Amino acid sequence: MDSIIFSGVGKRYRSLWALRDVDATFRRGEVVMVIGPNGSGKTTLIKCLLGLVRPTTGSIQVEGQVIGPDPGYRRSIGYMPQISQFPPSLTIGQLLEMMRDVRGLTPASADDGLVEELGLAHQLDKRLGALSGGTRQKVSAVLAFRSRPRILVMDEPTAGLDPVSARTVLDRAAALRSEGGTVLITSHLLEEVEALADRIAYLQEGTLRFLLPLNDVLQRSGTDRLALALPKLLADPV
Ligand code: ADP
Repeated sequence: MDSIIFSGVGKRYRSLWALRDVDATFRRGEVVMVIGPNGSGKTTLIKCLLGLVRPTTGSIQVEGQVIGPDPGYRRSIGYMPQISQFPPSLTIGQLLEMMRDVRGLTPASADDGLVEELGLAHQLDKRLGALSGGTRQKVSAVLAFRSRPRILVMDEPTAGLDPVSARTVLDRAAALRSEGGTVLITSHLLEEVEALADRIAYLQEGTLRFLLPLNDVLQRSGTDRLALALPKLLADPV
């Protein structure tokens, strides 16, 4: 079943169209990896879905509801941004507690398994302003997963994470897919895309060039490596 539908979505920043006329449907129980060169519109697409940026054209439906001014739909979405802005004087523990209340979760309903798995349990007294980039990413990951979201959106989630933590976060995303969740992830790492993607959305200069199953991308170009398949597919449009 469809969980997210983009219809003719475009976003203009002054004279620049960061997204152009994007039609796309994302389903339950799939991981879609959003790829494309720097500046191709990946983050803008995600921000439109989250209501952080209002599309200039078109509309987005989430679980049957057209996104409007009411942010209520975002409760079903877990979000791990590329760069998190945290209040620097709060500790990790205080932030987790505060965000639990904001999200209407209780200690019992919040899934805080990642706190332990990512090695944050002993660091709860650390101030957010003093954390390394990687540790901030881990806190972000905890926040994204803890409400057991039906839709999970992650922008370059493994950037700055050590390989073991990156694996832990991606395994969690895969588990969410098997529970019927819809997972959208932007990534620059093609090996990561190959390992996890059910479908690939390729953006170029704001245009969605294709949204295809990984296997189709590989088969159409007659190779088993995405790094070889992409140039072929882009030279010979679908
Ligand atoms: P990506 O995530 O693929 O790197 P972005 O969605 O961040 O791409 O950006 C797409 C284009 O929109 C880029 O040319 C970027 O400079 C521009 N852009 C993004 N955000 C803004 C903004 N707030 N104001 C003006 N231009 C922006």
